[in-house]
Amino acid sequence: MSLTREPLVVIVSGPSGSGKSTLVKKILELPNTMLSVSYTTRQPRPTESEGKWYNFVNQSEFQRMIDSGEFLEHAQVFGRNWYGTPRRWLREAREQQKDLVLEIDVQGAKQVRSQIPGSIAIFILPPSVGKLADRLRGRGQDSEDEIAPRLEGAQQELECFKDYEYAVVNDDLERAGRDVQAIVLAERCRVTREPERITQILMSHGG
Ligand code: ADP
Ligand code: 5GP
Repeated sequence: MSLTREPLVVIVSGPSGSGKSTLVKKILELPNTMLSVSYTTRQPRPTESEGKWYNFVNQSEFQRMIDSGEFLEHAQVFGRNWYGTPRRWLREAREQQKDLVLEIDVQGAKQVRSQIPGSIAIFILPPSVGKLADRLRGRGQDSEDEIAPRLEGAQQELECFKDYEYAVVNDDLERAGRDVQAIVLAERCRVTREPERITQILMSHGG
């Protein structure tokens, strides 16, 4: 008899420029993981293509999705654009028996955690606050107009770290990548995650 398990929901947050997307990609290198592609009202960056990391929609389409209950969570970030996680990823992850990775802000993380108690949350920290500006400018994707609210919001986001189970300092990328992968791998082994499977093994005398 094969057993289905609930997907592990992994939330990754942190200030803009801390390296969330870079580290989420490291988690996605693990087998049986998938990304929750968010919807946003912000304009795509030059390197961003529709549907890969985000689905880009206008304000009225976003509002329609809120009204029809399509979002697991949604929030206005930096007092500007709207971002939301569609519920359908949770269904897909269940169907595909994969763990689901959400890169969302601190407001969204609160909403998801109240709805999915077994979810885990990882907070990404830069080696120093000053490094955020260097990394955002170094990324070369955002205008100063876009960078300013991201830096202004950083302090407030950093203060939310206590709501998370894990904090990973993204100084050395290789090590930080191994850390986020190790967190996911360890969480998969919690005895509370697959009690039916353990019970089945205990009852499997004679092979
Ligand atoms: P976020 O998703 O948090 O806004 P990104 O993952 O886009 O951040 O990273 C911001 C920039 O910093 C990118 O140019 C990325 O390549 C770079 N970066 C990420 N991690 C490191 C690191 N450990 N050391 C140096 N640069 C990094
Ligand atoms: P960016 O515009 O730089 O890609 O993202 C800005 C912020 O929005 C980041 O903190 C990112 O984690 C957050 N974000 C991205 N997608 C979502 C989402 O679906 N929901 C919420 N609440 N925040 C999101």
